[in-house]
Amino acid sequence: MAKMYYNGDANEAYLNGKKVAVIGYGSQGHAHALNMRDSGVDVVVGLRKGKSWDKAVEDGLEVYTVAEATAKADVVMILLPDELQPKVYKEEIEPNLTNQALMFAHGFNVHFHQIVPPTTCDVLLVAPKGPGHLVRRTYQEDAGVPALFAIYQDVTGEARELALAYARAIGALRAGALETTFKEETETDLFGEQAVLCGGTTALVKAGFETLVEAGYQPELAYFETLHELKLIVDLMYEGGLAGMRYSISDTAQWGDFVTGPRIVTDEVKKEMKAVLKDIQDGQFAKGWILENQANRPVFNAINERENEHLIEKVGKELRAMMPFVNKNRKKEVVGSVE
Ligand code: NDP
Ligand code: MG
Ligand code: MG
Repeated sequence: MAKMYYNGDANEAYLNGKKVAVIGYGSQGHAHALNMRDSGVDVVVGLRKGKSWDKAVEDGLEVYTVAEATAKADVVMILLPDELQPKVYKEEIEPNLTNQALMFAHGFNVHFHQIVPPTTCDVLLVAPKGPGHLVRRTYQEDAGVPALFAIYQDVTGEARELALAYARAIGALRAGALETTFKEETETDLFGEQAVLCGGTTALVKAGFETLVEAGYQPELAYFETLHELKLIVDLMYEGGLAGMRYSISDTAQWGDFVTGPRIVTDEVKKEMKAVLKDIQDGQFAKGWILENQANRPVFNAINERENEHLIEKVGKELRAMMPFVNKNRKKEVVGSVE
């Protein structure tokens, strides 16, 4: 088994007397900044004037421009959207770097050479394996979201110590951290979100919903069956793995799981997954996404609009409005956030 790191493996005192600048205050940014502050770390936030700036001030944090925060800090964690990082880095971060440690929560820009860090800085990543709002919520519940860490460049010889102290301060070592490389983190993160977590799941849910509705079943029922209940099933997997989930479902459902699952995710689908992984490894996916952003996202926006019009979204909105308990956390977190 891979070596896992927990709270006891980190030198808690390592961040004492060091200033950490969290650049960006979105999903990950607000969680890292607030968790570290609550762990006793000296944190400042780097932003441009706007919604996030006001929110960070409201949350009681010291906020500066990206350039100022970078210049003040010993550790600079870049938590801007990946597609904006190269420009902000070039214009506001790089000119203010001397020997700060440079940190990321995803290896994309460094791995695909959109950001080329100076040779004088430690470069590392601490990537929580979960959405930022859960990084914050679980921290407040004395729990945590697991994380990956990786060292790209270790000038001081202290990069690993920093990675572990940082992971501890955001609560990740309560759940466990695993060492990786920028390459492995980037490729697996992109693959996971495309093939399974986001792309694979939304496509599966939509296809199931459409199959039922096109066969004449009620859309509301189809919504409960293919989307709402998915969370309940996934919660069981999260708690007890596939066997834990199968223990709770009926034997009829388990038989259907065994004989029908492979008819849905066929060998052809797995072959396609391998092709998706190859596109990621070859940089084809990265190139497409970088160019899409340079062109102001015409394809992204067109698909996004079409997706928001899907019947499953309309039906879901109405049903969720009748179940306020379903999204009470989300409402709290989204107020004033960038979502
Ligand atoms: P968000 O989209 O949530 O972050 C947006 C933040 O960046 C906002 O605070 C926004 O401020 C700020 N920002 C945008 N442009 C600028 C600018 N030009 N100057 C200063 N601030 C700016 O990002 P995420 O948290 O989703 O992602 C951050 C990193 O974390 C990425 O590398 C991502 O891959 C990684 N990651 C994200 C996960 C997630 O849960 N979302 C999970 C694991 C890793 P404003 O309000 O002014 O627009
Ligand atoms: Mg991810
Ligand atoms: Mg990702």
